[in-house]
Amino acid sequence: MSPNTERTLAAIVASLGIAAMVFWPAEEAAEAPADPEPVEEAAPDPEPEPEPEPEPEPEPEPEPEPEPEPVVPTDAAGVEFSYMPPGDLVPGSGTGQTIQPNYAPAMRFPMEMGQAYSNSQVYGHGGYLGPGGGQCNANNYAYAWRDNFCETRGYSTPMCPAGVGHQGQDIRPATCQDAIHWAVATEDGMITSVGSYSVRLMTDSGVRYTYLHLEASSLTVAPGDRVVRGQRLGYVSNEFGGTPTTIHLHFEIKMAIDTGSGISNTNVPPYMALVDSYERLLDGRDS
Ligand SMILES: [Zn+2]
Repeated sequence: MSPNTERTLAAIVASLGIAAMVFWPAEEAAEAPADPEPVEEAAPDPEPEPEPEPEPEPEPEPEPEPEPEPVVPTDAAGVEFSYMPPGDLVPGSGTGQTIQPNYAPAMRFPMEMGQAYSNSQVYGHGGYLGPGGGQCNANNYAYAWRDNFCETRGYSTPMCPAGVGHQGQDIRPATCQDAIHWAVATEDGMITSVGSYSVRLMTDSGVRYTYLHLEASSLTVAPGDRVVRGQRLGYVSNEFGGTPTTIHLHFEIKMAIDTGSGISNTNVPPYMALVDSYERLLDGRDS
């Protein structure tokens, strides 16, 4: 091939190349879609995935309700009643019985009205082994109450650690005045005896209540009388068979009970029955 021919062919090839670039422009342009993408029918939104139930927040621990403060009964003068534990005797007056259930939970308090003050006659003011002063000393007419069931005496009292004791609880009335404060029946029952300074009341279930030192001329009952709970029996006084004692009620509960060496009919500590019945009297559960 002659050089001229070569030049001619090169020119043709070049021309074809340029033409090709004109007729087949860049790929992008050639492949660009002629029509816009058809708008798809809006498909219904798929059901949304249900939101997962949120983990329940743990309930916060509720603040504990504060325990209601126990209501301390107040007496007719608005003074709060208080008592020392059972078996806690005046120091030097004996060894008390600290294990004391309420032996007479149905009993009414043996005085008609509050206030009343359970404490020792012998080891209190006005007592012959007391700290001096007269029986009307204000300390004798104040709370806290004090047990004196096992106070040192020679009476057989199997329920006391020493086996002997006082057999009952001494209770002063509201004021240091003789023969104006009524002692009343603790339960329905029968008067089984009336002595020179004693009244005994037996319930149908065999519990015997003893009241000492009531004023004889004020007694409203005689042996064999039926009495009802709360009935007046006589005035709290100081009678003691001729030689007066202090103005107080000596109160006993006697029942058949296992003393630890078999069942026997014996005096039981009345202190907790007195505490419970006194609280009921003060707060109106027993009128
Ligand atoms: Zn007594």
